[in-house]
Amino acid sequence: MAEHTRPRTDFELALLRRGLSERAPSAERCERCGRIPLTGEVVYKYDSGSVRCELCRALTADVPRYSRLLRGPELGHTIRIVDQRNRG
Ligand SMILES: [Zn+2]
Repeated sequence: MAEHTRPRTDFELALLRRGLSERAPSAERCERCGRIPLTGEVVYKYDSGSVRCELCRALTADVPRYSRLLRGPELGHTIRIVDQRNRG
């Protein structure tokens, strides 16, 4: 139990950060704050081609061309269990 509550070491944090940046080199980043939007967050694209996150969109009066919901990598990889046992 104590293992789960101990703070992460600098080395662990460095590995975590490196892993995140390696996993998402091509991910869309908000052009204003540089943040990679989270799964489930709406991103907005403008006529200029710029992309903004939900937080930064509120800071501009520009109207986005479109918005879309960011989906996680699990999309399309889930299964649905169907009960095919005979009833009776
Ligand atoms: Zn932003």
